[in-house]
Amino acid sequence: MAKALIIGCGGVGSVAIHKCCQNSEVFEEICIASRTKSKCDELKAKLEKTTKTKITTAKVDANQVDELVSLIQRVKPDIVMNLALPYQDLTIMEACLATKTHYMDTANYEPEDTAHFEYSWQWAYRDAFKKAGVTALLGSGFDPGVTSVFTAYALKHHFDEIETIDILDCNGGDHGYPFATNFNPEINIREVSAKGKYWKNGAWVETEPMEIKRVYDFPEVGVKDMYLMHHEEIESLALNVPGIKRIRFFMTFGQSYLTHLKCLENVGMTSIEPIEFQGQQIVPLQFLKAVLPDPASLGPRTKGKTNIGCIFTGRKDGKEKTYYIYNVCDHEESYKEVGSQAISYTTGVPAMIGAMMVVTGKWQKPGVYNMEEFDPDPFMAELSKWGLPWVECHAPKLVD
Ligand code: NDP
Repeated sequence: MAKALIIGCGGVGSVAIHKCCQNSEVFEEICIASRTKSKCDELKAKLEKTTKTKITTAKVDANQVDELVSLIQRVKPDIVMNLALPYQDLTIMEACLATKTHYMDTANYEPEDTAHFEYSWQWAYRDAFKKAGVTALLGSGFDPGVTSVFTAYALKHHFDEIETIDILDCNGGDHGYPFATNFNPEINIREVSAKGKYWKNGAWVETEPMEIKRVYDFPEVGVKDMYLMHHEEIESLALNVPGIKRIRFFMTFGQSYLTHLKCLENVGMTSIEPIEFQGQQIVPLQFLKAVLPDPASLGPRTKGKTNIGCIFTGRKDGKEKTYYIYNVCDHEESYKEVGSQAISYTTGVPAMIGAMMVVTGKWQKPGVYNMEEFDPDPFMAELSKWGLPWVECHAPKLVD
């Protein structure tokens, strides 16, 4: 039925590729393209014996619009799935515009030399995509992504008005290393060492990194420390949920992770300012990435589960209401199925489903859109089918 060009073959890309290959009825053909072609070839060799999906591979530098345009013209995909890094969002969007091809990604644009992310750069393409008659679907991972769809679902089926949203991203997994990051270390460390931010009564409230702490007792995972962080979906939800009063995002961090991070920050290893080292310029954070365990190598070692979901409060039929929806994903089961731990799994599955929504026409609308702007029902129906079942219940117990 459809052909996808998948750019990026890392942790998330690899899961999405496995899932496209499980869904051959929709993804009849995929081309895996990345900076390091050998990784694409390895995955192709592993998967082509198990799937009806036809797989090809290519080498591309996704920072170069010209290279991307000629690849898209050669492959002629129905959609480009951007599963590279947030730095490549704009070049890939440019190439999709030039070739009038649908686009999707899982993380919003971030310039490589400034640790700052916001949607304005990608939202600036709204008119151009509308004019070109193609859809750009932004943030089709878990958070953003599934959490955005959970919000649209809560608004459609459970509330007349949502007043507050707390997004809780809990990882109860243990990889056994004193310090490692579950996805790209550079992106992860930039994210967690930034100031916290949340939305309250129409304005941003800024906090110091890790200033606001909560302790929750999560279904199937247990008691975990969480810290308020800025996260990209707050920005789009603040615009797209009418009358919303407060949106916050919390993520779990263990004490060992925080102590190591503080030490690395204190000695300058998390800096993105280039320094001179033995006659060449190096970026300390990129060097740190090179010495840390590759997130892909955590898969076979990680035990435990993730629990990611949203607590909504608001009103339904004149009464106050609280509603909690979450997914639990098991690291070991994810690894058994697709060779990656649950963080990549919970991102790669929604990436495939988002692309499926676009190519099947369920979510096709010329322009640039965030996930909560589409009908949540068809997406929610696919989530359980492709390995991310969801549970609706009362909020988890707030311990502290
Ligand atoms: P990885 O670092 O594991 O993979 C990134 C891939 O992109 C690699 O294959 C890499 O190639 C490729 N790549 C990097 N730069 C280029 C380039 N210039 N041209 C072509 N290919 C390139 O990252 P993850 O898989 O962990 O993350 C992928 C994306 O998912 C990121 O944007 C991340 O922010 C996002 N994400 C979203 C989440 C969500 O819930 N919404 C959660 C987790 C991640 P090479 O092998 O050569 O390095």
